[in-house]
Formats: sequence, C-alpha cells, structure tokens
Amino acid sequence: MGGFGSGRRKSGKAKPVVENQISLKIKDLKEYKPETVFYYELAKDLSCYSATVTVKKDHLLIHINCNRKIYDQTVEIKTDRCNLGGLRQWMICPECSSKRTALYLGKQNKFACRKCLDLGYSSQKKVPFERLLHNAESLRARADQPPLFNPLIKPKGMHTSSFNRLRKRIYEYEIESHDLFKQWAYSAINKREFA
Ligand SMILES: [Zn+2]
Repeated sequence: MGGFGSGRRKSGKAKPVVENQISLKIKDLKEYKPETVFYYELAKDLSCYSATVTVKKDHLLIHINCNRKIYDQTVEIKTDRCNLGGLRQWMICPECSSKRTALYLGKQNKFACRKCLDLGYSSQKKVPFERLLHNAESLRARADQPPLFNPLIKPKGMHTSSFNRLRKRIYEYEIESHDLFKQWAYSAINKREFA
C-alpha cells in the first residue's frame, strides 16, 4: 500500500512526522490569559473529537472527549527569565519532563513531545503530492480507514454529515495528489530523469 511513498522506511512503515500531528504550541497559548478556557479544535473532520484547554497560571488542563471517552491531562508550564530581559515560556513534556515549545497528540490521546512520540520531520525536499498523501493518510489512520485510494467506510457512531465531510476531504487530497503526481511524472519522463 501507500503508492509512491519515498518517505517510507525499509520496514514498510512510515515514521509519523510532526507536520501531520495535532499539536499544542506555546505560541498559540500566549494570547490567552490564565483561567481562560478555550475550545481547541483537534481535528476538523472528526466530530467525535473535541477538546478544551484551560490555561492556568502554571499549567494547562487538557480535557479530550473522543468517541465518548474522556481523557484528562495536566501539562506544566515553566517560565524562564531571559538574559536579555523578557520571559520565555515552556510546556513540560508529561512523559520526559523536558522543556518544549510544542507537544503532539499521541495514540493514547495524551500529549507528549516529538522525541517521546518518535516523530520525525517530513523531509525538506518532498514533492508536493507527497504532502497531500500524508494528509490523506493521517486522516485515514485517525478514523480507522482502509489504506490510501480505497473506499472509505463509515465508522459506527459517526454522524453521516461528519463522515461526508471527512470523505470529501480525504478524497480531495487523494485526487489532487494524483493530479500532481501525473504532472510531475510526465515532466520527469520528458526530462528523461526516470530510470
Ligand atoms: Zn517527552
């Protein structure tokens, strides 16, 4: 499965990349004052997901509701005084206690750092269709769907309208990646770059 993927490891399993993960970034929290509760949109396409993040003085309270299950988590915030003045804030990874500017949502619906979740960065020189495929792939994985370019199956308990939105989004990524691949492949053939 997976088609054109040059981003795949020899094991056949692609290492997930930070760009495809749901993230919580310290810079996104700056505009919120302590004791603010805000709704955090985790995955636009999946209505089974919702999360609130409550910003407290020195920690965040994260409350995730996924498929009627509740996942709560506390993330500590640390503030350092910079040498040149000003303050710098960090989130403390709940797994390894390192200072981080971004945490990512892992499989257990808990946030942790890039290292703890073994996330890579997508390679700098990806051809554009690969990014689209990654998007489609990660949406499919999150909604328990068959591999790329296979028909989607409505998960039990998902509203039809949510499923329709999800399906539209995934298929659009796949159609667009296919079109881009076609252009890219033809131009490669014409340049005789193809083996
Ligand atoms: Zn960590």
